[in-house]
Parts: sequence; C-alpha cells; structure tokens
Amino acid sequence: MDCGCGDSNCDIWKRIYSAGQDNIYRTIFDLFPGVNTIIDSSKDPTWISDRTNQLLKTGLKVQNIIIWKTPQEFLQSRIKRGKHKAWAREWINYHKMYFRLVEKWISIRYSELVSDPDSLKGLCNALDITYFSGKERYWEKTHHTLFGSTRAKIHLHDEKSERFDKYKTELESRIDMSKSVHTQQRHIYYEMPENNIDDRAFVRNKIVINEIQETLVARNYANKEIDYALIQEPSSRIRANFSLEAYYRAKRHALRLLLK
Ligand SMILES: [Zn+2]
Repeated sequence: MDCGCGDSNCDIWKRIYSAGQDNIYRTIFDLFPGVNTIIDSSKDPTWISDRTNQLLKTGLKVQNIIIWKTPQEFLQSRIKRGKHKAWAREWINYHKMYFRLVEKWISIRYSELVSDPDSLKGLCNALDITYFSGKERYWEKTHHTLFGSTRAKIHLHDEKSERFDKYKTELESRIDMSKSVHTQQRHIYYEMPENNIDDRAFVRNKIVINEIQETLVARNYANKEIDYALIQEPSSRIRANFSLEAYYRAKRHALRLLLK
C-alpha cells in the first residue's frame, strides 16, 4: 500500500486498518498524540453518514462540510477527464444521497475556497478549529494520505522526485494534453468554466439543479450561526429515496470489493 508520506516502510495505514473501521479516528489520535483535528476528505455519503453516527456515540466532536461545484464547473471538470456523459445524473444523485444521509452540514463553494485567500480562515472560524497563516500550503509538511486525488498527492512531493514523475504521468494520461500541461504544480488553481457549454441536461433538470444549488448556498459557512433546529429538511425532490440509496450502496460495495 502506498502512503502519501513517501516512506515505503510507513505502516500507519496498516495499523489503522487492523484496528477496524469503527475505531479509525480513535486509532489515529492514539498514533499521533499531538493531533487534535482529523480531516477526512472522503466523499462517499454512506461513509460520512456511518462514521458520523458512530462518532456521535463515542463523544468525539464531528462536523461535516461539503465543498461543492456548480453544475457548470462539475461538467467542465468531467469534460477534462473525458467522461462527462452522465454528469448531470452524477451531480444530482450525489447531492440527493448527501441530503438523505448527512443531517448536519455546512457548505463552501470549491471556487471560493481556492480563489479567496480569506475563506479558509473564515471556514476554520466557523468550524471552531485553529487557523494559522500558511495552513493552505499543506504540501510543506509530511502527510500520510491514502487514496487522495492524484493532484492532491502531487502537491506533497518534491517535483524532482521519482514519485512525482509517476503521478504526473498518471495525471497527464487522464487529461487532454492538447489543452494544458500542468507544470506549476505548487499552486492551487481554478479555471473558469466556459460560458458556451450547451448541454440539454441543464434544461431537462433545471428545477432539481436549482433547488440543490439553493440548498447548498443556504448552508454556506459564512451565514451566521446555522440553527439546525430551524432548517427545513431538503424536499423529497432533492432527497434520495430508499431505492436510490440501496442502489448507491450496492454500487459502492461492489467497487470496494473490486479494489481489494
Ligand atoms: Zn505514511
């Protein structure tokens, strides 16, 4: 198993795995006594919901934040990877699943996080975790990452290292080479979507897309004190039903078996 820290002898993840899924965060805290905050960047709503429910039982504090892209931004990133056929269903179903399974959460737009230098500070404030200047330059420290996105892994390594070349090749094989070659890896970048994307899926799903976006915007971290007691549950139109959840869970399970 490849750990993001770059040390081939690192057995952190082996030790965490052997302690079991239900003890995952407790084990991490035990392994790193100086650590008081764990960021789990998993996207799977079933994982988030299962871990959240289990954490609430142990008394550890848990906060969920969704970093979201607009449909235009999401489509743009899918086009870049060359697989955008089902983008609308993916975008809609992901949020429907999230709204069904995750109860308490706040949001931030991906573009805001990467383009506004003050947003991370504000976000840390809203989450009540310590911000220090330079927190966004996370590649300057050693990190034990697993299954992160290729791009996130790249930032953690020296550009000259062998490992960097490996990931760079992996990344470039996935993107359209004619468009851009990413040489400035140590910058977080954000590209504005093109305005002329003409996709019928926008029109067909307009109502659902709008309602999802409104829900996401309403829970922005900068909105004063989100009172969960007063928040209305997302409507059934934008909340997964039982069969979508069952389908989603089965698909995730199959994928996990394949990766083993
Ligand atoms: Zn490691």
